[in-house]
Amino acid sequence: MHAIGRRPLTVLTITDVDADRRAVDRAGAMLRAGRLVALPTETVYGLGANAYDDEAVRRIFLAKGRPADNPLIVHLAAADHLDRVAATISPLARSLAARFWPGPLTIVVDAAPGLPDVTIGGLTTVAVRVPAHPVARAVIAAAGVPVAAPSANRSGRPSPTTADHVAADLAEHVDLLIDGGPTGLGVESTVVDARTEHPVIYREGALTREQLGFAVTGDATRAPSPGTRYRHYAPTCEVEIVEPEHLAARAIALQAEGLRAGTVAPSQLHTPGAVPIARFGDVDELARDLYRALRDAESADIDVLLCTAVPETGVGRAVMDRLRRAAAR
Ligand code: AMP
Ligand code: MG
Repeated sequence: MHAIGRRPLTVLTITDVDADRRAVDRAGAMLRAGRLVALPTETVYGLGANAYDDEAVRRIFLAKGRPADNPLIVHLAAADHLDRVAATISPLARSLAARFWPGPLTIVVDAAPGLPDVTIGGLTTVAVRVPAHPVARAVIAAAGVPVAAPSANRSGRPSPTTADHVAADLAEHVDLLIDGGPTGLGVESTVVDARTEHPVIYREGALTREQLGFAVTGDATRAPSPGTRYRHYAPTCEVEIVEPEHLAARAIALQAEGLRAGTVAPSQLHTPGAVPIARFGDVDELARDLYRALRDAESADIDVLLCTAVPETGVGRAVMDRLRRAAAR
């Protein structure tokens, strides 16, 4: 007998890593054995595999439809595991790790010679981080191996901030989905090259430039991560960035064309005739809710999702970066 149709998806809810110890150990054992485990981090949900298992990592690329030249972030349970994946660790990498790990900072270092090519996308460097989410850290510690984990979405889609988002994109590819509730920050980690004494931001993210506190010598547009070359974060509807003062007029114009407009806008702005998909009090709230909004706009049959621009300070930089990519045609 052959199984017909979709593979049933195994979902484990883990809210307390001590109380749910058996689930944590089970997830860790699966990762070690080469299975794919989707798990919550403080940024977005990740699709994890043993970073040293070529076959398992290849399945991540297949599941996501991710281009092979877009390397994965390798996740560690603790900063002092960095030498398990790095060939050399610069003083800058060491001090960034000491200061910001666990947390939403990904550090690019020279890759250890044994790290599979598929994990690092054929580069000689590896992007590494220690997530702050207790479930992610406990599961990676239980795995006992570095865990390669890109965001757990189909390539090009908005990143997942709930277990439901993961299931919607990847149900038939995931061996285990850990539901740890909605993620806290909602945008991906900041990627910084720390191979020399001059830090270079490769991708804007949840850790802000203000928090990093150094004058960066390069910027994300001149020295991008390979992944930033690809179209990203795009729902099936159109996304348009508008200044708050033009929101109402733009919504009316769309309605006049017979189109259904949705809005992602500050709570105090009311846009008659448009469907409110997300209202936010501040930019942190917007960051947390943005990917959910992009996905919900699809299910609400929105033709054009109008997103108000936010100032490019703090996490506003990462938010505007993601909005521009979602809006790119
Ligand atoms: P994701 O995990 O899907 O958020 O994507 C990880 C991001 O990190 C992508 O933009 C990758 O291109 C980037 N990245 C991974 N490894 C490296 C590396 N060695 N150098 C620069 N960027 C990297
Ligand atoms: Mg991603």
